[in-house]
Amino acid sequence: MTEDRFETIAIHAGQDPDPTTGAAVVPIYATSTYVQEAPGVHKGYEYSRTDNPTRTALQTQIAALEGVDPAADGGAVATSSGLAATALIGYLLKPGDRIVLPDDAYGGTFRLIARVLADHGIAWTAADLSSPEKVVEAVTSDTKLVWIETPTNPLLKIVDIEAVVAVAKSVGALVAVDNTFATPYLQQPLSLGADLVVHSATKYLGGHSDTVAGAIVTNDAELLERLRFLQNATGPVPGPFDSYLLLRGIKTLGVRMDRHCANAGAIAEFLEADPRVDHVWYPGLPSDPGHEIAQRQMSGFGGMVSFTPAGGVEAANSIVARTRLFFLAESLGGVESLIEIPAVMTHASVEGTDLEVPASLIRLSVGIEHVDDLISDLDRALG
Ligand SMILES: *Cc1c(COP(=O)(O)O)cnc(C)c1O
Repeated sequence: MTEDRFETIAIHAGQDPDPTTGAAVVPIYATSTYVQEAPGVHKGYEYSRTDNPTRTALQTQIAALEGVDPAADGGAVATSSGLAATALIGYLLKPGDRIVLPDDAYGGTFRLIARVLADHGIAWTAADLSSPEKVVEAVTSDTKLVWIETPTNPLLKIVDIEAVVAVAKSVGALVAVDNTFATPYLQQPLSLGADLVVHSATKYLGGHSDTVAGAIVTNDAELLERLRFLQNATGPVPGPFDSYLLLRGIKTLGVRMDRHCANAGAIAEFLEADPRVDHVWYPGLPSDPGHEIAQRQMSGFGGMVSFTPAGGVEAANSIVARTRLFFLAESLGGVESLIEIPAVMTHASVEGTDLEVPASLIRLSVGIEHVDDLISDLDRALG
């Protein structure tokens, strides 16, 4: 294990100067195939669905940031989207297996589990994973995977990863943590006992809202080999251009996250003190039920803030129509601030299920603009 710290790893892991030219930046290897010296004699690359050097560099970088121990033969698999990563994990399961997932899971994850994997004989149970008793009730002997999101989306509940890992292990289930919201800069689930870490790299890892990608990270050599096999067999790979954009974005992950956290904290305090706001969800607020665990498990509270305005759905609609800096858009984790109404946007697919969210809930992805400008924008929009 390198002694380097996070910010240094982000810039150096997997990114040695190019051996043939000395290029300081990992090249975009825009090639589908690799010339062999003789049949089967090559430099480790045969075909770019299987491996591509730009992708390899990205995988090394992400694995190092999640604290993978190279001696344990773990690593990362970069994928064409976050959901492609989730689907690959789904392929680890067999008919009759059960997934336990959060009752406010990311809408796309819920859709994949409830409307795709379910058709292939995989059962699921949604539970409030922030409550240890509910987790104990939810897991059964057929539970093969417990899917954790923390902070959850969009209600930013905090799940005690170590506590859920202990329950999952008692029935022999794997634990996957969707670390999209926290990023490895704020939270390292493998060190808390998780088997798999999943990312929508589209969000904070990429950080600039300019590419769609995902990743899976594990310390388990067998799981890594199986996932690499599944990826090669099913094909959801990121291209070299997307891999390059991620490598580039991830270099600044630490400095961006510091600013996302500082801005989000200030905005959460501003909203909590404002009478035009009914309730604020942000794990950094001492009033938040997840605050204590978040303090223990994370090194910062992230850039996502959710709130309900005092005026209900009508007020929510006018607020999102009035912001100037906060763009009305789905997605999150970019340098620019975004605002949305999950019930009709990101979470429309969970309407009428246990995973439904309050209709007037507004979710903010707080960017790295100047915080005073962001607060003025919200102040004006609150009317
Ligand atoms: C966006 C997102 C996903 C899905 O990732 P894609 O890159 O859009 O496929 C999964 N989990 C969370 C928490 C997300 O925000």
